[in-house]
Amino acid sequence: MSIETNWAGNHTYRARIESPRSVDELQEVVARETRVRAIGSRHSFTDLTDITDSDAGVLVSLADIPTAVEIDESTRTARVTGRAAYGEVATQLHAAGWALGNLASLPHISVAGAVSTGTHGSGVENGSLATSVASLDIVGPDGEMRTTSRGDADFHGSVVALGSLGVVTAATLDVEPTFDVRQDVYTGLAWDALVGDLETITKSAYSVSLFTRWTDAGVEQVWLKSRAGDAPTELFGALAATTTMHMLEGGATESVTQQGGVPGPWLDRLPHFRMEFTPSRGEELQSEYLLPREHALTAIERLRALGERMAPVLQVCELRTVAADEHWLSSAYGHDVLGVHFTWLRDVERVYAVLPAIEAALLPLGARPHWGKCFVAEAVDLAPMYPRMSDFRALRDRVDPDRTFGNAFLDRVLG
Ligand SMILES: Cc1cc2nc3c(=O)[nH]c(=O)nc-3n(C[C@H](O)[C@H](O)[C@H](O)COP(=O)(O)OP(=O)(O)OC[C@H]3O[C@@H](n4cnc5c(N)ncnc54)[C@H](O)[C@@H]3O)c2cc1C
Repeated sequence: MSIETNWAGNHTYRARIESPRSVDELQEVVARETRVRAIGSRHSFTDLTDITDSDAGVLVSLADIPTAVEIDESTRTARVTGRAAYGEVATQLHAAGWALGNLASLPHISVAGAVSTGTHGSGVENGSLATSVASLDIVGPDGEMRTTSRGDADFHGSVVALGSLGVVTAATLDVEPTFDVRQDVYTGLAWDALVGDLETITKSAYSVSLFTRWTDAGVEQVWLKSRAGDAPTELFGALAATTTMHMLEGGATESVTQQGGVPGPWLDRLPHFRMEFTPSRGEELQSEYLLPREHALTAIERLRALGERMAPVLQVCELRTVAADEHWLSSAYGHDVLGVHFTWLRDVERVYAVLPAIEAALLPLGARPHWGKCFVAEAVDLAPMYPRMSDFRALRDRVDPDRTFGNAFLDRVLG
């Protein structure tokens, strides 16, 4: 039997993986099994997807079900298969003259897996990828298909749901006419400049990413993705880069999307990484905490104080913004957030040793962890931060009373 791991290689799936070839076959598997978890493109970093607490049950992969993208111009939506990678969806949409409003840093991530954990890109006006979901088709514990759409009472509890309510076979996504983006990178933004003008800087383009290692060098790189117009030659003292930059020291610059202010299609600029460059396995772990934007400066101050502690395992940190949404388990539920993302060395022990200090600094500010990345907080810490947690629990009790879609991770973080 082959050994199956997640993308980062730090988790080996314990449960057997089944790959039905059609939605009908998938429904039969779900109806038959007592425990089922959907597995997407495997880009999460923990046992979130797996069944580790029981010998019963299977992981179902939708990878053998043909992907499809059906555009409905009249409603400005596209119905896409759940397992489709955002990059595949984007390519088909662009070819037909359409676009998604935003993308994550990597185009290889599956649509269903991404929205189920609240995956996001950046931009003060841009919600997470879940906010572009208009409806979902979900196979429930009895194997029956149900659809939940914007406006339904359960909808905002069902999109960011960590695979706990069923297997998403298709998502209908909002689309807009295709557009061009230019990407400009700046280097050397001093801490004083960032702290003095954080709001203006995060608003200076459609999508803004700030990369730092929390040293005295400040923000080493700023990536601006702009939908139109010129970009400044200088950004609060940071200078326009003259060569292509990777956010990691020594990273392969051929893997990053075009920089240098050259306008091009949205799908070739909004992600940081190119679709055709497929990292099959990553030499990294990731964590991310998203906190109400009004506490951004306090969070930055606290993280600078932890800089030396993090340094031995930190590759780079990325600050992004995400607009508020209404999804009950979203890290941006109810308020605009600053996302503080950590790319770590792939050293599980040392990374988990530093997380408690980061959480002690950020959780009191209302920071919620990214569900797909490494964190140590548990249900007792997390529940108070999600005003709709009890509604979510009631929804889960109603939809999946026997916990067909449960696992040890969900017991730990949802209670
Ligand atoms: C290199 C890299 C870059 C990343 N960049 C970003 C980024 O820019 N922004 C960001 O926010 N996150 C980012 N992430 C995190 C990533 O988006 C999340 O971990 C996401 O959940 C991965 O989805 P997946 O399908 O690959 O994961 P999986 O581990 O396969 O699944 C994750 C969760 O989704 C559920 N799921 C998967 N498929 C289905 C389905 N069909 N129906 C129901 N539930 C399903 C699983 O059960 C599980 O709970 C990145 C991760 C990596 C490795």
